[in-house]
Amino acid sequence: MEIRHLGGDTWYFPGRVNVGLFRHGGGAWLVDSGLDDDAGRKIARHLEEEGTTLRRIVTTHSNADHCGANAFLHRRTGCSVAATAMEATVMENPTLEPMLLWSAFPFEAIRNKFLQAKASKVDLIIANSGAFDESGLEAVPLPGHFLDMIGVRTPDDVLFTADALFSGEVIEKYGIMFVLDVQGALDTFDRLEATEARWFVPSHAPATEDIGPLVETNRRGMLRIGEMILDCCTDPSSREFIVAAVAERLGLSMTPSEYVLNSAAISAHLTRLARNGALTPAVEEGVLLWRRS
Ligand SMILES: [Zn+2]
Repeated sequence: MEIRHLGGDTWYFPGRVNVGLFRHGGGAWLVDSGLDDDAGRKIARHLEEEGTTLRRIVTTHSNADHCGANAFLHRRTGCSVAATAMEATVMENPTLEPMLLWSAFPFEAIRNKFLQAKASKVDLIIANSGAFDESGLEAVPLPGHFLDMIGVRTPDDVLFTADALFSGEVIEKYGIMFVLDVQGALDTFDRLEATEARWFVPSHAPATEDIGPLVETNRRGMLRIGEMILDCCTDPSSREFIVAAVAERLGLSMTPSEYVLNSAAISAHLTRLARNGALTPAVEEGVLLWRRS
């Protein structure tokens, strides 16, 4: 399994989800675990071959691709798992993720391993800011993408930034970045831009020493969706119409899973546009319409 050194005791396993590794006192701490048992097995084998004990997984947030291997690694190694309270609630009750996206008990097509991780226990609830155990790792709040997502800073001046930022390629391919709180995400971009670190490690982009260009790409990608939504609301429009219109502009075809993810992100944009006073919601003839103010 490929592993890259970032400095001192900090490493990461590059992959579809980058998994951080920090060594302390003869043990290993992971930042996230990966999508499924397979991902967990590869990490466990790597640590077993070098004789390192996995002490703890620090989960940045409860999206399945970040905590899907927790249950396997806990079973295999007896490691503990740390997460913020809100993210822990979803990790321990993973039906909540598709339920959050659909706003009711989910139908089968959105109950898959990408939207619903295997349930896993969290035994250390941590605050979204500051040190949380003897390792020297620190949580950094990253509002926007999910319920109470954190980044993790290591004593080697490496900052794992979870899903606060996506690569330009991901933004180009998917168009609509998943987000629950658009203003929170925009504020996080500003804060990351002003943050000093030797390395920044997003979960879905290569590690970089200069976060500036990536922040700008993400900011533009996020604001662009808000502008498209306003364009769609020349006439009062329903969320369903807006999702379809934005998808058409971006040339997206969607599975049911992608549809509910994109619908949630559009909802988050609508919340921000309503708060800013740009759009006003009203139900007309049984349809919730968004009208330009
Ligand atoms: Zn992710």
